[in-house]
Amino acid sequence: MNIFPEVKVSIDKLLSSLESEETLVVLSSEVDDKVVAKVRDLCCLPLRKSGRGLSISSGTTPSGHACSIIEWTDVDGLKFIEKRWLLNALVKNLESGGSKRLAVFITDARSRQQAILADDLYDVFCDAVSCELKLESFRVLSAGDVEDFHRPVRRLHFTDFKKWVNANPDEMTSIEIATRLERFAKKHSCSYEMLDEKAIRDKGLNLLAAVGQASERSPSRLVLLSHGCEGSKDKPLLLVGKGVTFDTGGINVKPHERFVNCMKNDMGGAALMSQVFMALVASGYDRPIALAIPSCENLVAQNSMKPGAVITAYNGKKVVIEHTDAEGRLILADALSYAEELFDPRQIVVAATLTTAAMTQFSNFYTPAHFLNEKQKADLTKIGEKWGELFTYWDHFLPFAHCNDTPISDLTNMGRMPGALPASGGSMIAAHFLKNFCDAPMAHFDIFASTWNWSGSYPGAGYGATGAPFNSLFEWVYGL
Ligand SMILES: [Zn+2]
Repeated sequence: MNIFPEVKVSIDKLLSSLESEETLVVLSSEVDDKVVAKVRDLCCLPLRKSGRGLSISSGTTPSGHACSIIEWTDVDGLKFIEKRWLLNALVKNLESGGSKRLAVFITDARSRQQAILADDLYDVFCDAVSCELKLESFRVLSAGDVEDFHRPVRRLHFTDFKKWVNANPDEMTSIEIATRLERFAKKHSCSYEMLDEKAIRDKGLNLLAAVGQASERSPSRLVLLSHGCEGSKDKPLLLVGKGVTFDTGGINVKPHERFVNCMKNDMGGAALMSQVFMALVASGYDRPIALAIPSCENLVAQNSMKPGAVITAYNGKKVVIEHTDAEGRLILADALSYAEELFDPRQIVVAATLTTAAMTQFSNFYTPAHFLNEKQKADLTKIGEKWGELFTYWDHFLPFAHCNDTPISDLTNMGRMPGALPASGGSMIAAHFLKNFCDAPMAHFDIFASTWNWSGSYPGAGYGATGAPFNSLFEWVYGL
């Protein structure tokens, strides 16, 4: 399906540019948008009565095309994600129309937001899992220049992020992730290195080795890519993502059916950081950048990692395994230490579907972001608002750091607040665990909740991956 480039169409030629059986959808933010008034006139739809909020009106153009106009009025008080959510709800009306061919016309006003809303429309119609089946064609028509951040590259990698997360877990294995990254590295002249199980054991990345040791299909791998690092005076930016391609919980097998049947999404951090890396390289980012993807599968089998084991990490710290379902932080720990030694980064950005607490505490509309400095927070908040994505911020906090202490060993992988309910502070405690394995400044995103459509009502998402927070992170990382 061809989405790009979008077609520029003057209002006078709008109707004649429609192809046969296309449904026209017009998006507008402005109450007195002259373009929309003209479209209404052309489509023989009555003028909108004054009022506040979001409205949809449908009809048929003189040329026989179905037509819907979606208008916002006076909704400046709403966050953009609220607007996206409202549109999502409204679009269900359009879905019942059963159109297989869509042309979305974006008026001039606030064109960037409308471009995202057009993306949402596309994604809602397609359904994230069985894309091409529902919609035969989709075109974006615009009256003016659409202001967007590296749009074709952004859109491609945003979509690929969702595809990676939605893929069958027996297809998207650690080996497949490595293969895809190698293919990209060759095409874009990146350095590529892959540590297999033997190399991982030989070098002493024992936490990563332990988590993947029960899987034949998706065994432990550490994939390392870099671009523009050789000969650069700048230190690189290092992106790290958790790639557990399926998480049963291990011997502490997951008790909740609802969670375990979605656990192919546990490589969401690897998918997100890989796609951000690829989008940066493909869009001409000219500073040194590196990527480290630890990946494997957490299975229940004869040789699974056992609770109670004490395992020495790559950096020499001993970790007692109190719970085999807290495995993400283990593979990240070794990847962080190893990649920091290799790349000497100026800044590390980590993404991981790390804790269910990220959802139980913050809902799936927010991504907890840990350890950002004040400027990074301010920038991300601004960027997130533009894309309709939300973040909560958490700083270093000594009581959380000490939750990972244990009398048995240097660290426990199941830190908890003394006397508190089990999930209490879970996202923060896991984040502080990672702090033990690198020295460079680290921003960590716990994307467990936001990257999967748990609520069923995430804007622009069907069943499965939401695509959040790719758009914000791509733009934010670009500016780091
Ligand atoms: Zn787990």
